[in-house]
Amino acid sequence: MQTVLEVSHLSKSYGDFRAVNDLSFAVQAGEIFGLLGPNGAGKTTTIRILMDIFKADSGEVRVLGERPAAVRARVGYLPEERGLYKDLKVIEALVYLARLKGTDETTARRNATTWLERVELQDWGKHKVKDLSRGMQQKVQFVASLVHDPELLILDEPFQGLDPLNVEMIKNLIRALQAEGKTIVLSAHQMNLVEELCDRIVLINRGKAVLYGALADIKRDFAPHAVRVKTSNSASGDLTGIPGVKEIRPIGDALLLELDGTTPQAVLAELVRRGVDVQSFEVASVPLNDIFVQVVGQGGDVT
Ligand code: ATP
Repeated sequence: MQTVLEVSHLSKSYGDFRAVNDLSFAVQAGEIFGLLGPNGAGKTTTIRILMDIFKADSGEVRVLGERPAAVRARVGYLPEERGLYKDLKVIEALVYLARLKGTDETTARRNATTWLERVELQDWGKHKVKDLSRGMQQKVQFVASLVHDPELLILDEPFQGLDPLNVEMIKNLIRALQAEGKTIVLSAHQMNLVEELCDRIVLINRGKAVLYGALADIKRDFAPHAVRVKTSNSASGDLTGIPGVKEIRPIGDALLLELDGTTPQAVLAELVRRGVDVQSFEVASVPLNDIFVQVVGQGGDVT
């Protein structure tokens, strides 16, 4: 696997305050990588160092194998604070930004037109930026970050201010970009979206990495040893005395069976043997949102 982004022992202070504190992580080619953390964790500071806007106090970053300054044209960045030239026409603003990143005029215009279609703003190219709604401007910003066709895309809060339909559209476009071979770093606070999109994540708290790795592995590590079962009458009576089931409690219209010394497979086999009318059976998992709250809430370092 090719490493597209490498952050090693990065630190950055503002005065006496250490915003990023010995942070290390790597992003592999072709993945959607979540850069997560509570407000003030140090995500934007890290991104600004990656984008060569700030210098680090210590540590190293490598972007596409180079120093950040050397690869600006190959990286796309959707900043947290948005700003487009409001008096420019949408298409001209996009062409201008692509040209700044070294794209030739013809390609810039073609990319801008294609991308306005992809975000369903094809009728708005000739309007001034200031005449678009906030959500529409947000989509133009998204397009602005990738109109020069970067290999690596860093998206800081891309869903901010969007309605559910536009969230869906941006989510699908991020997936499409991955399918087209791009690498995406996503910073977002909506854990359900992160869970849908990201292959791997780093969770930062107070400038340090507190969780790092494949989302599936992290979810497995945090999953309760339990199964969720729905039966036709959801009465726990049918389920008493199953070897290795420590506790049974209702969760919504199902039952949660906490296991100790048995496996989900053995429990399912026992239910079938007993002739219980099982309507659904799943190994219990924990939402990323709960993991975030648990890890950040305890201020802990579990790496
Ligand atoms: P959010 O999710 O709220 O955007 P973040 O993880 O992006 O947060 P940063 O913007 O990197 O966090 O900020 C990290 C810390 O550094 C915060 O406590 C913030 O107040 C502080 N900070 C950021 N920029 C500056 C600055 N220019 N001068 C002083 N302190 C700053």
